[in-house]
Amino acid sequence: MSVSFLENLEKIEPYVGGMPIQELSRKIGIPEDQIIKLASNENPYGISKKVHKAISEYEEYFLYPDGSGFDLVNKISEVFNLKPNQIVLGNGSNDILELCARVVANHESEIIFSEHAFAVYGLVTKAVGAKEIVIPALDFHHDLDGFFKAITKKTKLIFIANPNNPTGTLIDQQKLFEFIQKVPSNILVVIDEAYEEYLEAHLKSKVFLWLEEFENIIVSRSFSKAYGLAALRVGFGVGSSKTISKINQIRQPFNVNSLAQIAAIESLNDLKFVEESAIKNNEQKKILEENFNNLNLLFIKSYGNFISFSLGSPSTALRCYEYLLNKGIILRPISNYGMPDFLRVSIGTEEENKIFIEKLTEFIGNTK
Ligand SMILES: *Cc1c(COP(=O)(O)O)cnc(C)c1O
Repeated sequence: MSVSFLENLEKIEPYVGGMPIQELSRKIGIPEDQIIKLASNENPYGISKKVHKAISEYEEYFLYPDGSGFDLVNKISEVFNLKPNQIVLGNGSNDILELCARVVANHESEIIFSEHAFAVYGLVTKAVGAKEIVIPALDFHHDLDGFFKAITKKTKLIFIANPNNPTGTLIDQQKLFEFIQKVPSNILVVIDEAYEEYLEAHLKSKVFLWLEEFENIIVSRSFSKAYGLAALRVGFGVGSSKTISKINQIRQPFNVNSLAQIAAIESLNDLKFVEESAIKNNEQKKILEENFNNLNLLFIKSYGNFISFSLGSPSTALRCYEYLLNKGIILRPISNYGMPDFLRVSIGTEEENKIFIEKLTEFIGNTK
């Protein structure tokens, strides 16, 4: 007899991340410092100097972390004007997404999310044995009317990515508000705002202001993108004290390590770094858009720190990905997101983007 593993695990294809720099270096023999990784939406400007100083000075590796994350939770509550009991910390926001599924869903449940949405929604849905209800996208956008129509008695959770990855699309706050008003209040609605920091002032999320009115929403935020702390794995969820206490019942006691907590606090003490990163990102995004237009490449207007652009066919997309890899540039193929004609490029520094465009132009020229 062999071990009886859960049936739902058979459907799960593990998450595939961007190729690590070290891996490409080993493969093609280019030194690591000559490789440009534009594959995982990391902050190309690194981390704030304040964060760097705080983590360099840290020494208490022999102590367990503060399992309640007291200082970081208080810092978040201060910066975002929230109550501490509305906040839960996660080992990356991925942890929050998974915990949300685990507090409401099991094998009898349905979980709704969009086609082309962030891959982790499907993974956690399958992991809890729930049924995935994938709503076809409307020209790559979330179709919230379609979400609403798909709600049944079995619906326990709805995932909304705003902005979404890998499409970069954004849902208007008014539309989102109207949707949440209509959703039955027994369904948990997760609004994943991993790219919030990149939004211009007039587009910023207002969801924190709706928490009083709707006990069934939870927002997830990440320190991995604009804050530049992807390696440390830290994010947070914001919702009603009831939902937060349920999540606290099942999360691992020390899910966020001490160094991550310290770095996250310091990064909130230097929001200027985040704002400047966003400004530079948005300037570079315009330049990349102009270049895609000049090259006659279709792209999806993005509100994040990445752009998905089409090469017209799956085979050309794959050839382009490999051509760039051989030049030391790592992009992200997104056929596993149902977008095989596309590649996703994270917006790098001015210099990185120049080299990317130069090599992309070369590829396009060669294929003509
Ligand atoms: C990158 C990303 C995340 C999360 O990342 P963590 O590193 O786990 O915080 C969450 N949601 C979306 C849509 C993302 O693109």
